[in-house]
Amino acid sequence: MKATYRAMQVTQPGILELVERKTPRPAPGEVLIKVEACGICGADIADIEHADPALRPPRVPGHEVVGRIAALGADVPSRWKPGQRVGVGRFGGYCGECEPCRQGNFQLCRNRPVMGATRDGGYAEMMLAPHTGLVSIPDELSSEEAAPILCAGIATFNALKKCGAQAGDTVAILGIGGLGHMALQYARRMGFRVVAIGRGGDIAEDALALGAHIYIDNAHEDAAARLRGLGGAQAIVTMVADVKAVSALMEGLAPQGRLVLLNPAKEPLPVSATLLVGGERSILGSITGTPYESEKALDFSVLASVRPKVEIMPLARANEAYQKMKSGRAQFRMVLAMQ
Ligand SMILES: [Zn+2]
Ligand SMILES: [Zn+2]
Repeated sequence: MKATYRAMQVTQPGILELVERKTPRPAPGEVLIKVEACGICGADIADIEHADPALRPPRVPGHEVVGRIAALGADVPSRWKPGQRVGVGRFGGYCGECEPCRQGNFQLCRNRPVMGATRDGGYAEMMLAPHTGLVSIPDELSSEEAAPILCAGIATFNALKKCGAQAGDTVAILGIGGLGHMALQYARRMGFRVVAIGRGGDIAEDALALGAHIYIDNAHEDAAARLRGLGGAQAIVTMVADVKAVSALMEGLAPQGRLVLLNPAKEPLPVSATLLVGGERSILGSITGTPYESEKALDFSVLASVRPKVEIMPLARANEAYQKMKSGRAQFRMVLAMQ
């Protein structure tokens, strides 16, 4: 193993700097991963723009990581083997002892490590990770394809599983970007009537090609009225931060329909209590999933031929790749490749 590895760290808020670091040894319960690919996610913006400049060494972002196990620390279960291809998503494991963990809700662990925020992430040739965060990667997926499934994929896959809609029901996807393009593919293959809702007509063709039956341009049409015309949506899954757009669209929910929020927008969401109570509608939040659920998202992606659309750049061009994602020009997901 090489004595050093290259990493992109946040030396100043907003700026990634290429550095050489000493290859670490995994602590008990950890593995060292030789990273092959790392996706760039919208959540990286907070990690990169608001990184603590006093942190030493500075933080390495990235939480859609796929690579091979290069070294195992003590006390790592035997299912994880040297050379095995594994992934790590936003939450790099769980403690197994807190109340949510004892209930089996590992994604809600109170002590969960957050890759790229509370621990170094995957914009690097090497990364340490707790074994509790590891996800097994199926052979059918390349590392560049698997990486975005570990955040954008699992987030939308689980949201659709929790949305309450049955095959044949209408499900609307609000926001057709990195997450939305996965949601459209999953929703189509889960058997829903899929309505994509975006701003402008540019994205319509892509949305239909990804699996939408219907595209609604929210900038020029009353999307809620269109949904009501279809009998109402049994579920609306939203990725957007625009709380006014989300609120307006709720008028398109069918009775007992669910609004599933994936964007943790800080602004309060205005909600009509009449709409909720009168039609027994509900709102829920959904946050990625457990490593086991991520394996289900990967398996489903293989079984149903769902693949993220990725643009690949080498690690050294991480700044350019990050800026492209941040500006909304990515089609649809940027992925860093380490070789
Ligand atoms: Zn993410
Ligand atoms: Zn826990």
